[in-house]
Amino acid sequence: MKYDVIIVGAGPAGLSAAIYSARGGLKTAIFEKAMIGGQINVTDEVENYPGFEEPLAGFDLTEKMHLQAERFGAEFIEEEITAIGLEGLCKIVETAEGKYRAKSVIICTGAHPRRLNVPGEEQFTGRGVSYCATCDGALYRDKVVAVVGGGDSAIEEGLFLTRFAKKVHVIHRRDSLRAQKIIQERAFKNPKMEFIWDSVVQEIRGEDKVRELEIYNRKTNQITHLPVDGIFIYVGILPNNELLESRLALDSAGFVLTDENMHTNVPGIYAAGDIRHTVLRQVVTATSDGAIAAWSAEKWIIENYDSLED
Ligand code: NAP
Repeated sequence: MKYDVIIVGAGPAGLSAAIYSARGGLKTAIFEKAMIGGQINVTDEVENYPGFEEPLAGFDLTEKMHLQAERFGAEFIEEEITAIGLEGLCKIVETAEGKYRAKSVIICTGAHPRRLNVPGEEQFTGRGVSYCATCDGALYRDKVVAVVGGGDSAIEEGLFLTRFAKKVHVIHRRDSLRAQKIIQERAFKNPKMEFIWDSVVQEIRGEDKVRELEIYNRKTNQITHLPVDGIFIYVGILPNNELLESRLALDSAGFVLTDENMHTNVPGIYAAGDIRHTVLRQVVTATSDGAIAAWSAEKWIIENYDSLED
């Protein structure tokens, strides 16, 4: 099967690329191995995506994008891509079901949560260790939880957890937060939030589930033990770059380098959204990347193939 454009990943970047590509008349397929919507699906409230006066759930926002892309004829394929190769100008996308050919590929595979890599983290994942407050927060009604990290995710999700938990300890390795000021102010005002500064979690302990954290204060060198029922880890994101074409140029953290047209160093392969080396990772920047990538892919196809029907 030959497509003009194959989009890898159906988060906001991929969905936006699909809307622009399909609406532009390109034969477009969008592959997703898990759930359409990507990481933002587990965000309880999106309040900074323009056009929505009231906050809306991440899932509701991406579902609207999904339906919009379908309306323009984008084909959604629920298969995991295992390799992307090249045959001259043509891109060969492989899944367990077969091979798909495309003139251009837009990579929107996103990112995933970074692990703390401390003893107990893996052992207690799903039994007190979580990376998703929206998914698991309600399990901690009237309980004590800790959130690790000082970025937007840690503080926003910590605030969300105050709806359920009686206490939310924020453990941060420095003495100031990285999160946006407006979110910080809300957190400092919230009586359920408590901050443990200059500290890192060294070990997560328990029996059948998490019972306490061993915390090391980097300034005083003191070790303390904090009793908690759960720990939510938000220490940044890592690129989902496992299947990427080995010829693609990446930054030192593994994110894809592109030019301002979202073009990678491989002709006809574009990247958009969280997988890309970028200064801001938001739904609005992901959708913008997706639109630019689709527009650029169309220009590239017209320049490099005799016609779109080729
Ligand atoms: P982030 O901004 O990279 O923050 C990660 C936090 O974890 C930092 O505070 C960092 O500390 C800390 N950290 C990193 N490694 C650590 C370790 N090994 N041990 C302890 N702490 C560690 O990641 P994020 O909060 O997941 O956000 C990812 C992207 O999504 C960002 O661009 C963010 O702006 C965006 N985002 C936006 C919103 C929104 O606008 N509403 C919501 C969520 C996410 P340092 O500060 O010391 O580096």
